[in-house]
Amino acid sequence: MFDLQNDLDDRRASGLLRRRLSAESAQGVRMRYDGRDYLSFCSNDYLGLASHPDLQQAACDAARQWGTGAGASHLLGGHSQVHDELEQALADFAGTERALLFSTGYMANLGVLAGLVGRGGCIHQDRLNHASLIDGGLLSRAKLQRYPHGDHSRARKNLAVNPDARQILATDGVFSMDGDVAPLAQLISACRDRDALCYIDDAHGLGVIGPQGRGALELAGIQPDSDEHRDCVLLMGTLGKAFGSFGAFVAGSGEWIETLVQQARTYIYTTALPPAQAAVSLASVEIVKTEHWRREHLAVLIDRFRAGCRERGIELMASDTPIQPVMVSDNQKALDVAEHLRRNGLMVFAIRQPTVPAGSERLRITFSASHAEADVDRLLDGLEQAGL
Ligand SMILES: *Cc1c(COP(=O)(O)O)cnc(C)c1O
Repeated sequence: MFDLQNDLDDRRASGLLRRRLSAESAQGVRMRYDGRDYLSFCSNDYLGLASHPDLQQAACDAARQWGTGAGASHLLGGHSQVHDELEQALADFAGTERALLFSTGYMANLGVLAGLVGRGGCIHQDRLNHASLIDGGLLSRAKLQRYPHGDHSRARKNLAVNPDARQILATDGVFSMDGDVAPLAQLISACRDRDALCYIDDAHGLGVIGPQGRGALELAGIQPDSDEHRDCVLLMGTLGKAFGSFGAFVAGSGEWIETLVQQARTYIYTTALPPAQAAVSLASVEIVKTEHWRREHLAVLIDRFRAGCRERGIELMASDTPIQPVMVSDNQKALDVAEHLRRNGLMVFAIRQPTVPAGSERLRITFSASHAEADVDRLLDGLEQAGL
């Protein structure tokens, strides 16, 4: 039987109850939550596009042109010209033949993993992969093999165990809670040697890292559409993070994408992304491609933060991305520090189990191109005062 109150009380007693705050302002680095003003370091709006005036205008114009809902699934009349245009723009940006829109990144991961392998297959995952990759693996009914974080030698060995099975290796491109980048060159080479697919979830890398913002693959110098990689690389990106919009896409060769159109249940059995939202993403891709200053400014902020932490003896993790976690390694202390920061008007969240393993509780600090250098200094002072 359910004993909900008891379970909730237990959760509260262990300090694991999760609580929501309600924003009273648009997304940005200055936010109002529950009646108080904060300088925010918690969003994934890395390029500061979620309330960009051009995107707001695109949303208004597109809602007038296309209405507010897609009305049906992609295969039953809900697919539109603006979806096509966005898919083409995303394929161009990612450097692949085709791209396919999904309503969210979570659904893309479920659809790809469960759509491409089943019972008898094998899915290899980094231990720190995002929950949606893990869930996609479970849904597929394939055998699940996890390798230690970033350990490409182990991944290569694991891929050799069932050489005749259909195999996918799935990895975050940039790890969502650690900010480090997967060793893609080695992982892809291990997959290619076993005719396996390397599926890269670059939710936090696309738009943000690489000289042109093309993500973890660009940073590793890998062209997904080359003869060498076309058959063994598939990329996923989300539009709700750096792109400041909503939705997700999978990019790869025409064969992979057409297979997903036929087989990905989270593509087939759900309402299409609203076309107006696709129009917003289309406008956003243009900004992501052209406004390099946003990535350059982020790099300045990240350097300033890391130098400031070193001066103050605050321990950092090995991340060059806008995700700059500060390890606290204790549930209660992580909550206390986050609370202290909030009392000082700084919005930072403590990340705890089960999102990260027990003992690796941390503050997840993220930067946006909309932050000023003075904002970083204010955060550094806040961290110091909070006793870090
Ligand atoms: C956010 C995230 C997702 C899910 O994307 P949504 O579009 O928010 O559903 C998937 N993978 C990773 C690594 C993420 O960080």
